[in-house]
Amino acid sequence: MSYFDNADKELKVDSMFKRSQGKKKLSTINYKERVFVLTPKQLQYYEGTPQKRGKMKGTVDLIKVKVVEAVDDNAFDKQYCFQVVYQEYTLYIIANNEEQQSEWIYAIQEECRKNKTLLSYYHPGAFIGNQWTCCHNTDKQAMGCQKTFVNTVSNSQVFLDKPLPPLPPTPLENEGLNVVALYSFQGIESGDLSFSKGDEFTILISEGEHWCLARDRNGQKGYIPVNYVREKGGLDTECWYFGDIMRHVAEDKLIKEQKEGTFLVRNSSKDGLMTLSLLHAGVVKHYHIKQDENKFYKISPRHCFPTIPELIEYHKLNSGGLVTRLRQPPSSDTNPPTVGLGHGKWEIDRSEINLGHEIGNGQFGRVCKGWWRGTTEVAVKMMKPNSMSEDDFIEEAKVMQHFHHPNLVQLYGVCSQTPIYIITEFVPNGCLLTFLRKQRSQKLSVLCEIVFHVASAMAYLESKNFIHRDLAARNCLVGMNLVVKVCDFGLSRFVIDDEYTASEGTKFPIKWAAPEVIMYNRFSSKSDIWAYGILMWEVFSGGMSPYASYGNPQVVSYIMSGKRLKKPESCRSGIYTIMKDCWLECPDHRPSFGIVIRRLKSLLGEDYADAFD
Ligand code: ADP
Repeated sequence: MSYFDNADKELKVDSMFKRSQGKKKLSTINYKERVFVLTPKQLQYYEGTPQKRGKMKGTVDLIKVKVVEAVDDNAFDKQYCFQVVYQEYTLYIIANNEEQQSEWIYAIQEECRKNKTLLSYYHPGAFIGNQWTCCHNTDKQAMGCQKTFVNTVSNSQVFLDKPLPPLPPTPLENEGLNVVALYSFQGIESGDLSFSKGDEFTILISEGEHWCLARDRNGQKGYIPVNYVREKGGLDTECWYFGDIMRHVAEDKLIKEQKEGTFLVRNSSKDGLMTLSLLHAGVVKHYHIKQDENKFYKISPRHCFPTIPELIEYHKLNSGGLVTRLRQPPSSDTNPPTVGLGHGKWEIDRSEINLGHEIGNGQFGRVCKGWWRGTTEVAVKMMKPNSMSEDDFIEEAKVMQHFHHPNLVQLYGVCSQTPIYIITEFVPNGCLLTFLRKQRSQKLSVLCEIVFHVASAMAYLESKNFIHRDLAARNCLVGMNLVVKVCDFGLSRFVIDDEYTASEGTKFPIKWAAPEVIMYNRFSSKSDIWAYGILMWEVFSGGMSPYASYGNPQVVSYIMSGKRLKKPESCRSGIYTIMKDCWLECPDHRPSFGIVIRRLKSLLGEDYADAFD
């Protein structure tokens, strides 16, 4: 049918509620029942009932429509609401049920798909009390915070028999990589660019690994932290994609939200597959996203799409076999640490640090919580004078500052005058060893996740050819959502204390040391793997001390005679096999961290095989 054929044909007629548009400043907000009629050219609404239609109360010319999308249930505390954005107005319509809502959105979108003015982004919330309920932006005219169907369903099977909608204008030049911000960022140093989540940039110059010079859509140039942005188009930029989180973490996240239809997509414990986790009536359901023979993605056999974002967009409008349609992703966590506190910033001005209370007292001195420039939470390690080779450490720390991984404590910089302050990311839930001891009866899945996090950080260090040298539960911290972070990497080399550094010393961590370290002081990633095996043992034994009743000389003869720690009571034999492989006599026979990760993943796949609907 051509666009202007049968212009008056009534495609759809239904009674629904219309929210007053507030065009007149003094009118109060109300909801009136109207008969809505969709024709190829207009959306009309009338008084009366579908059977006995009254006076026409208004029309929207479809050619002027820019967005047709669902509205979050919490925007007006009304379910099944959808929006039709045209010119500078938004018409909010409240359907009577989910099916009606999806059908109307779909039907109007179909009639508007050729519009030249379709927007690429929209607000799933409403502008109430001087801000958008969805993204809290206080600018009413601010660009939407979520992609519209224009961007996401252009090739899907749903529309295969229809012409494609016009492509949105490409606002960015093609000179560099185009990226999208995952988080908002407040520039710190002059030359840094401030931005909001969802903003887009072109990368102009990549300087090192962690900061780059970029230009935003308004032509402003400045430095941005690389880990705050992702290349446009990948799953990583989707606010609902949570990557490698495990089933129970996903469940906790969704249940905490207490909002019907909250959902996320995560990598499944089965290699290569993805899982959709969805909250319905307080219970989380998990669905495998499968691929058909054409490599199209599907959850139910009837709805297949070339990409996962298209699949998700479809199920936002239609439950299509799910317990409910997808509504919103969980609210995002706090921003990740940047590498350094500004681009090229390494030396930190001591006067800019406000010290808070003491959070620990370690080998090198006191550790305090602090704030940098009053806003950024940090941990401050105040090194005891003469406890470390300061110059060597400062040189090395310049390298360590560039390490960046979600399971490594981020080093921000140093105050290099004595007493040296080492400034790092603040990790709120303290030392892993204390955590294990306090909460002995942790679920097996939580313990597996802890060792998985540590292995991920260590695989990263291994890929950088960096040796930790003092890996143990006491040198790991527990962050938000039980994310474990490895700290103190490489620090032991700078300690000035023979009792700590020499294998005969009383403070030398011999119980974590591989035979070649004890014998020849030979450290490598394979001696880190040995220590990792001991850390696994600490984790699965609920924070017990390894070889508890032995002194250092007895541990050495125990190990050298080929004996190893026994399996902790509740530990699965598959996990214990990994530990024992970490303790193989010959370093070359021990697995790499990459292999440990693969083996943990396949074990998790077996042990915690997801139950899917
Ligand atoms: P040292 O290396 O000098 O022995 P640690 O690094 O073990 O000191 O720190 C001592 C304690 O301080 C830790 O057990 C932990 O409770 C606390 N702590 C250290 N670093 C941080 C941090 N970045 N965030 C939160 N707490 C920390």
